[in-house]
Amino acid sequence: MLRRRHLRRLPWQDFRGFRVQRKYQESAKITSFELRTVDGVPLPQFRAGQFLTLELKIPGKAVTVLRTYSLSDFPSGDGVADHYRISVTREPAPEGLDVPPGVASNFLHDHVQEGTTLNLRPPRRAPSRSAVRLTVLNRSCW
Ligand SMILES: Cc1cc2nc3c(=O)[nH]c(=O)nc-3n(C[C@H](O)[C@H](O)[C@H](O)COP(=O)(O)OP(=O)(O)OC[C@H]3O[C@@H](n4cnc5c(N)ncnc54)[C@H](O)[C@@H]3O)c2cc1C
Repeated sequence: MLRRRHLRRLPWQDFRGFRVQRKYQESAKITSFELRTVDGVPLPQFRAGQFLTLELKIPGKAVTVLRTYSLSDFPSGDGVADHYRISVTREPAPEGLDVPPGVASNFLHDHVQEGTTLNLRPPRRAPSRSAVRLTVLNRSCW
């Protein structure tokens, strides 16, 4: 019930197409992506700490990859946003382990370019305090 009410409040259901307007390096490991709607409809306001879910169709992966990324800037003066920005840390394979590097972060860094369209779920609330504590503890993950 709560979940249904929450879903009704979302600015859009499921996924919406966004075009990568700008892609730029923040540092050796971090790249930012500015994402604008393909349909041109203005974005609803969002708050610090919210995050987006990206749906990535990665060649060679049988299933769609879903990953969440925090919004890394906020709307200018009037509070109306014309883009979202995420900042993605490239995840290498852990040292000493013979496993592939991070699937989504490396795909975003290496293959998603300005002009690429990505499907996004609307910004969601920040996780609960306990989840935030866990995220901070696990910060080395991202
Ligand atoms: C609410 C929220 C907000 C977030 N915000 C951000 C953000 O703003 N920016 C950001 O960069 N990230 C953020 N993240 C993390 C992000 O969602 C991804 O988890 C991150 O990008 C790694 O995904 P990946 O697909 O690149 O790595 P994955 O493919 O999920 O791999 C993760 C790590 O596991 C290793 N690995 C792979 N296979 C194995 C194996 N068999 N055994 C052991 N290790 C293995 C990989 O080498 C890699 O180091 C956020 C997460 C949450 C939950």
